[in-house]
Amino acid sequence: MKPLLLRFIIAVLIVMIAGGFVVFSEPDGIPVLNYHQINDVDENMLTVSTEEFETQMVWLKEHGYQTVTASELADALEGKGTLPPRPVLITFDDGYIDNYKCAFPILKKHDMKAIIFLISEYVSLYPNYLTWEQLAEMQTAGVEFGSHTVDHNVLTELSPNSVNHELADSKNVLENRLRRRVEFLAYPCGYTNEDIKARVRAAGYRAAFTVELGNVNPGDDMYELNRVPIFGAMPHTMFRFEGRLRCPRVAAWLERIQRNLIRSGHQSLAEMIPVL
Ligand SMILES: [Zn+2]
Repeated sequence: MKPLLLRFIIAVLIVMIAGGFVVFSEPDGIPVLNYHQINDVDENMLTVSTEEFETQMVWLKEHGYQTVTASELADALEGKGTLPPRPVLITFDDGYIDNYKCAFPILKKHDMKAIIFLISEYVSLYPNYLTWEQLAEMQTAGVEFGSHTVDHNVLTELSPNSVNHELADSKNVLENRLRRRVEFLAYPCGYTNEDIKARVRAAGYRAAFTVELGNVNPGDDMYELNRVPIFGAMPHTMFRFEGRLRCPRVAAWLERIQRNLIRSGHQSLAEMIPVL
C-alpha cells in the first residue's frame, strides 16, 4: 500500500472515531436549518422531496425540537431573551413557489415556524417563484420573510454602490409590500466579507446568515451566522440529516478535508471521505 494512501486511511479512521464521540454527545449551539426547494418534480442538489421534508419535520418534533422565529433567535443570541429547550430555526432561501405549495402545508400541519429569504425582484415575476398573494397568506399564518437581495448577485463581486442597492432596495420593497420590518438577510451563495457585513448593519439589518456549516451560539458575529445546509447531496437521507443536525462540527470538518483534497487534485482520495 502506498504511504500516502495509508496516511489518509489512518486520518479518515481518526476523523470517524472523533465523529463517533460527537454523535453521542449533545451538540453545542442552536441549529439554523437551510432549505431551498421542497417538491417531487425536481431532482437536484437543492431539492428535498415533500416526503423527506415531512419526515425531517416529524423527526424534529419527536426529538423535542421547537421552532423559533428569527427575532427570537436574535434576541437570545444578544442575551435579551430566552428560548425553549432544543430550539431550531428553519430557513428557506430564494423564495421558490414550492415553499408555498409543498413546504407551507407541512409546516402548518405540524405548527412549525419558518423564515423565507426572498429575492425581491423575483417575487411575482418568474413562474417558479412566490407571488405577493402567496406571501400575504403565509405571513398571516406566521411565516416570516427576510431579504436574499434584489436579484441574487454575489455581494463579494459587486461594487460598494451595488452592494448598498442590493441590501437597501430589497429591504424597502419587501417592507413596503409586506408591511412588516425586514430585519434578516441571507447572503446569496453565503458569500460575505468585513466590508459587506458593515454595509448590512448600516442598511438596518439585525443579523445575516451564511451557508457555513455549523450551529449558532451567543456571542457569534450577528452578520455571519452559520447554518446547517440541508442541500448539496442526493439523496437527502435521514442519516445525513441527523448527522448534520447532531454533529455539524464533524460534518463541516469532513467537508473541509474533502474540499482540500479535491483542490489539490486528489479526487479518488476525496471520494473516500465519509461526508455527511
Ligand atoms: Zn440563494
